Amino acid sequence: MTAEIIDGKAFAARVREQVAAHVERLKADHGITPGLAVVLVGEDPASQVYVRSKGKQTVEAGMASFEHKLPVETSEADLLALVRKLNADDDVHGILVQLPLPAHMNAELVINTIDPAKDVDGFHISNVGLLGTGQKSMVPCTPLGCLMLLRDRLGKLAGLNAVVVGRSNIVGKPMAQLLLGDSCTVTIAHSRTKDLPAVCRGADILVAAVGRPEMVKGDWIKPGATVIDVGINRIDAPEKGEGKSRLVGDVDFASASEVAGAITPVPGGVGPMTIACLLANTLTACCRAKGLPEPAGLTP
Ligand code: NDP
Repeated sequence: MTAEIIDGKAFAARVREQVAAHVERLKADHGITPGLAVVLVGEDPASQVYVRSKGKQTVEAGMASFEHKLPVETSEADLLALVRKLNADDDVHGILVQLPLPAHMNAELVINTIDPAKDVDGFHISNVGLLGTGQKSMVPCTPLGCLMLLRDRLGKLAGLNAVVVGRSNIVGKPMAQLLLGDSCTVTIAHSRTKDLPAVCRGADILVAAVGRPEMVKGDWIKPGATVIDVGINRIDAPEKGEGKSRLVGDVDFASASEVAGAITPVPGGVGPMTIACLLANTLTACCRAKGLPEPAGLTP
């Protein structure tokens, strides 16, 4: 069997178009422009790329982008003061503090200082609790994007066996909560799971969020399963020339695509969905703040 490729890039483009169209209407009908503030502390090269990309796509969607770049030696108190200022700013509907933060800062304290209603990453403890109890919340962008791809491919997910490999607060746990919310039978696997290949073989839906290049092999996959590869790993690619590298997921795409019914590629699968969902969350936060109807299909 050769798996259908789940085109996250194309799906993300459609989400961004939907967001942009809704933003246009908000401006025309209500004179409201949703705004996203992104805070970057330090000069981590990968974070700089993400922040640039977020800012660019925010503007392309018609929203206001507020970038705050702070030097690495910024004190925690100064960062908290900025977050509080953004909380109070009516032009800012979403706040994202780019992780990781420098070691001298308490990331949990910083995240939990963001107004939960503006917490477009969905990492604030209140949003975690709301999601866990099935209440309206801000949902972390990457798992939200995965859920959208799964619903698009499979329709109703109820009753399906879902295995999430990885239990991070950012991806694995919220992913599991979302799948549970859609009435899947959910297993969360991690580094201490016994016989991981056998656990994965029980999955109708397999989500890999591990951070280990090409760890999940084709013979771990139930024939016909839907495989969502969250991993982004850069590995050496001497075949492309000296010092060259390429991106791979946590799933061994070559063997997995022979067995799965559908699979996300890396790159071009989950990755583009993450920023598209950040824009969607900013729009949702804005609509909620203004008491306006939320756009359809952009929240769980
Ligand atoms: P973390 O490192 O926070 O978590 C990794 C999880 O994988 C942990 O729960 C860990 O288990 C588990 N794990 C590690 N090794 C094994 C193993 N050998 N067998 C089974 N489980 C294992 O990573 P994140 O959740 O933040 O990210 C996961 C991947 O997703 C990374 O590649 C990251 O780059 C990518 N990512 C992609 C995004 C996107 O936009 N596409 C966004 C966010 C992340 P334990 O808890 O027991 O240690």
